[in-house]
Amino acid sequence: MSTPTSATTPTTTSGATWTNWGRNQTCHPAEVVVPRDVDELRATLARAHTRGIPVRAVGSGHSFAPVAVTDGLQLRLDHLAGTTAFDAEAARVTVGAGTPLHVLNPALQALGLALPNLGDIDRQTISGAISTGTHGSGLRRQGIASAVVGLTLALADGSLLRCSADVEPEVFAAARVGLGALGVITEVELQCVPAFRVHAKEFTADLAEVLATVDDDVRAHDHVDMHWFPHTPRVLVKHNDDVGADDPGRVLPAWREKLDDDVLSNGFFELVNRVATRAPRIVPRLAQVTARTLSDREFTGDSWRVFCSPRRVRFREMEYAVPLTSFVPVVTELRAWIDSHDVSLPFPVELRFTGADDIWLSTAHERDNAYVAVHQYHRLDDGGVFAAFEAIVAEHAGRPHWGKLHTLGADQLRALYPRFDDFRIVRDRLDPDRTFTSDHVRHLLGD
Ligand SMILES: Cc1cc2nc3c(=O)[nH]c(=O)nc-3n(C[C@H](O)[C@H](O)[C@H](O)COP(=O)(O)OP(=O)(O)OC[C@H]3O[C@@H](n4cnc5c(N)ncnc54)[C@H](O)[C@@H]3O)c2cc1C
Repeated sequence: MSTPTSATTPTTTSGATWTNWGRNQTCHPAEVVVPRDVDELRATLARAHTRGIPVRAVGSGHSFAPVAVTDGLQLRLDHLAGTTAFDAEAARVTVGAGTPLHVLNPALQALGLALPNLGDIDRQTISGAISTGTHGSGLRRQGIASAVVGLTLALADGSLLRCSADVEPEVFAAARVGLGALGVITEVELQCVPAFRVHAKEFTADLAEVLATVDDDVRAHDHVDMHWFPHTPRVLVKHNDDVGADDPGRVLPAWREKLDDDVLSNGFFELVNRVATRAPRIVPRLAQVTARTLSDREFTGDSWRVFCSPRRVRFREMEYAVPLTSFVPVVTELRAWIDSHDVSLPFPVELRFTGADDIWLSTAHERDNAYVAVHQYHRLDDGGVFAAFEAIVAEHAGRPHWGKLHTLGADQLRALYPRFDDFRIVRDRLDPDRTFTSDHVRHLLGD
C-alpha cells in the first residue's frame, strides 16, 4: 500500500438530488465530488475519513437497489475513464474505474479484443457492473466480474491496494463483486478474448415447449436468453452462438434494426405501457398484442452489438439466481401465481443462464445458475408480484442480484453465500471504521 502525498481541490458540489435510472431511488448527498485523478480521489477519501463522513462511489446509477445511495459523500469517477494499459500478448487491458461499457466495447474492438460476455445494456460503468455481479447469459460463460484479473482499490485513508489472484488473493476474491463496501475501485485489469461475432437466432415459442427442452438448449448454445410475456404462453427465445471475427454472416438491415430496437422495443413498447398504466385490466390482452409483434429473425453481428440494446422504457426489476434444477419449478410457480392473481405485468420476464465462478459474493459462486427476472413498468404498481416471487425463490436457495430489488438482509444472505463471513473479515481489515457504508450496506452485511 502507498499513501497520498498531496491534497488538491476536486470538483465539488453539495445539496444536489440524485436519482437512479429506474427512478425508485433518490438521495441528497451532503457532498458530491468528481475527482480529476487518483491523487484527488485519495485526498478526498483521506479528508472524509478524518471527518468521519460516509462515502459511496456511484457509477451510472443503473441499480434498482439502493446500493449507491448515500447522504454522505458521493464520488463520481467520470474522469477515471479510458484505457490506461494494454498487454497485447496476454490480451489484457487496464481501464479506469469510471469507464462506461459503451465506451469500453468499441475501444476493445479497436484493439481486436472483446469481453467474453455482456448483459443486455452497455450504459453501466465497468466498476458499477462488476460491483453488483452484472451478468449476461451462457452456461459456458460467467458474469463480467470473472473477466477481472486485477484491480486497485483506494481505501478509506486514501492509500491504494492492488489485488489479483497472486497479490492479496483474499481481497481479490472479495472485491470483484464488492458492493462498493471495501473501497473505491480506481482501475480494473480485464482478461479479454479475441474480438468475435455472434450468430443470433430469435424466434417465438410456447412456454411449455421451452421448459421441456431447456436442459438441452442451454447446453447446445453459447448464450440462451428468453423473454416470457406473462398472461400469455409466448416466449421470445434468443439462441446466440459465437462465431469468428471474420464471419460476416447475414447482417441485419438497418431498417429492421431500427424497427426492432427503436419502434417495437422502445417507442411502441412505451405506448403499450402507458396504455397499461391507464387501464391495467387490459394488460393480459395487451400482452397478447405485444407478443404478436415479435417476429423471427436471424443475423450475425459484433458480439457487443448483439448482446446490448438500447432500453428507453423505464422499469423496476427483481432478479434471482437459482440452481439450474430449480429453473422449471420456479418459472412454473411464478406463472401459476400470476395467472391466479389480479396483477398486470406488461413487461416480459427474462430468463438467462450462466456458469459457476469463484467470486465470494457472486450470485454464481460455485453454482451454475438460471436467472429469473421480473420487471414492472416504472409507473405501475407491482401488484404484489415481487413479494410473491421472493417467496417462491426462497424455497430454491435464490440469490438476489445485488443491483436489483430484493429484501434480503445479512442473516438470509449468510445462509446463501458460504464465503459471506470471509467477505466480512476482509471488510473489517480494509474498512474498519465503516467509511464505505449506508443503511442498505448495513442491512446487507450486518453492521
Ligand atoms: C436498463 C437496465 C438493464 C440492465 N441489464 C442488466 C443485465 O443484463 N444484467 C445484469 O446483471 N444487470 C443488469 N442491470 C443491472 C446493472 O447492471 C447493475 O445494477 C450495475 O451495478 C449498474 O452499474 P452502474 O455503473 O450504473 O453502477 P451503480 O448502480 O451506480 O452502482 C452499483 C454499485 O457499484 C458501486 N460502485 C460504482 N463504482 C464503484 C467504484 N469505482 N468502486 C467501488 N464501488 C463502485 C456502487 O457503490 C454501488 O454499490 C440492468 C440495469 C438497468 C437499469
